Amino acid sequence: MPLFINRDQIFAHQVHLLEHKLRSKEERILELETENALLHLRLAECMGKLRRDQEVEILAKRRCQLQTNVQKRTRSALAELLSEVQALKQDLRDVFALYVSFATDLENQSKQLLEQVASTAVQVFQGDGIQNLKDQMSALERSLQEEKERCRIERTRRRVLHNTLVELRGNIRVHCRVRPILPFDCSHSPSRNGSSSPEVVVQAFSDDCVLVNCTKPGSPVTNKMFEFERVHGPEDSQDAVFEEVKPLLTSLLDGYNVCIMAYGQTGSGKTYTMIGSQPEDSADPKDNSQQGIIPKATNELFNLISEKPAESHTVEVSVVEVYNNELLDLLAKDEEGASVGVKREVITTSTGTSEVPCLTHELVESCAEVMQLISAALRLRAHSPTLVHRDSSRSHLIVTLTVSSKSANALALARRLQNVRQDVQRGSKREWWSPRCRRAASSRSSSPASSPYPSPCQSPCPSPRPSISQTPIRTKLQLVDLAGSECVGMSGVSGAALWESSCINRSLSALSDVLGALAEQRPHVPYRNSKLTHLLQDSIGGDAKLLVMLCVSPTQYFLTESLQSLGFGSRARQIQREPPRRKNTGIKIK
Ligand code: ADP
Ligand code: MG
Repeated sequence: MPLFINRDQIFAHQVHLLEHKLRSKEERILELETENALLHLRLAECMGKLRRDQEVEILAKRRCQLQTNVQKRTRSALAELLSEVQALKQDLRDVFALYVSFATDLENQSKQLLEQVASTAVQVFQGDGIQNLKDQMSALERSLQEEKERCRIERTRRRVLHNTLVELRGNIRVHCRVRPILPFDCSHSPSRNGSSSPEVVVQAFSDDCVLVNCTKPGSPVTNKMFEFERVHGPEDSQDAVFEEVKPLLTSLLDGYNVCIMAYGQTGSGKTYTMIGSQPEDSADPKDNSQQGIIPKATNELFNLISEKPAESHTVEVSVVEVYNNELLDLLAKDEEGASVGVKREVITTSTGTSEVPCLTHELVESCAEVMQLISAALRLRAHSPTLVHRDSSRSHLIVTLTVSSKSANALALARRLQNVRQDVQRGSKREWWSPRCRRAASSRSSSPASSPYPSPCQSPCPSPRPSISQTPIRTKLQLVDLAGSECVGMSGVSGAALWESSCINRSLSALSDVLGALAEQRPHVPYRNSKLTHLLQDSIGGDAKLLVMLCVSPTQYFLTESLQSLGFGSRARQIQREPPRRKNTGIKIK
């Protein structure tokens, strides 16, 4: 170890010591600074806490103040309410007092009124007031009864008068319609005098006369005149034709069977007159102007029924064709529901009416329903082209609308009519009913099998009404579009079609025979000679109304056929030649 320590060493040593001290001091400063910072932090925390405490205290003070205010306000509101309740209580007490006084007044007044009524009643009872009232009541009842009776009599009188009117016009009426010249007429007629239009030989001369020019080349002029109940010319519309047919529908609802048939050669306008143009011909589907008698009559029937009490009448429709003297049900369906024409038989029932067992009858409620069924049936109808017409119907089409009336009024009316007839028959020897009724009555007595109607009450005029009983009254409207009446040569058919044509001709001559027998009042009317007349017997005999619509072509080419049709119509009209007696002259409706 050195003995001498120099100064520098001492200084270095002191410096070292000082440095050491400095370092420790600096560390200490650092510690103190850290401590200071911590203390600052704690101070800040304490300050924050102190501030929050102060805020909480301020809030509590404010809340306390608010509560005090609310309490003050509530107290004052309660005080106000209390005073209002007290005022209301006072009002209630006043109203109650008023009510009590009013009730007392009312009681007093009603007591006084009762006393007055009692004293008046006593006066009335003592006098003849009640008796007067009773008298007045019975007088009123009597006059009501009289009015009802008068109303009923008026209704009966209306029906009797309507029927008389129809009978005066004829139970068998023949109308004639001369159709216009149509394009197919030109193909049949060679041009005359250089003119391409065919010669017109059949004309509607007046409202009831048809003039036929029968002049043969080289012979003097020969004109023939035919008279009918009504003649329509080429310009007459479907509506005009139907207007003349319309009254028959009133007769139908009055309890008479009605038949409207179109007769004429092929192409003369039978189907056009009965059914009308097909809808596709018309641009406007709602245009009814081209409808024929069948749709128009059906529509009118439903119109008339709609004026009657609800559900008093029901209507059923059946459609049949007579083809080759066989009856085919055109509404029948096979097992798969497809429409097929099914053969049926026509029979005469024990009551003398004609009936077709198993015939399909469809219940209908509108004209549209009927027309739908007819259009379906028409698709099955036998058609074939002939020389005259490329769509010639080879069968007779019969649409039957059966109207059943459940109306008590109708029954009473039928009873009344029957009584009137019986009274007249008993009281007077005069035959007041029409010649046809006499004829039918005589034919019934001598030939019950051919008589169309039963005679349950020995009514002078056989009626389709089965009897005056509680059974519904059933009347038939038969609408017939006959097959063409031309002779075989004219239609130019051969082979199987010849048989077809000869069947048509035979059934039409059977129809002519029936009308002839009725005209001559023969005891036997040969209804059963053909299916057609057998089926129609209820609507062409007795007091039924028959309208034959003769359809004729105007041109020379069809002259022979037109003359044949006009002759048929004239023969049918002879039934009415004898002037009908005014059957109501002897009737006294009470
Ligand atoms: P039918 O049934 O007698 O064989 P249609 O009724 O079929 O004859 O008539 C033959 C054609 O003549 C049809 O095209 C029909 O539209 C037309 N026709 C018939 N009558 C008239 C008429 N009065 N007015 C206009 N066209 C008619
Ligand atoms: Mg036809």
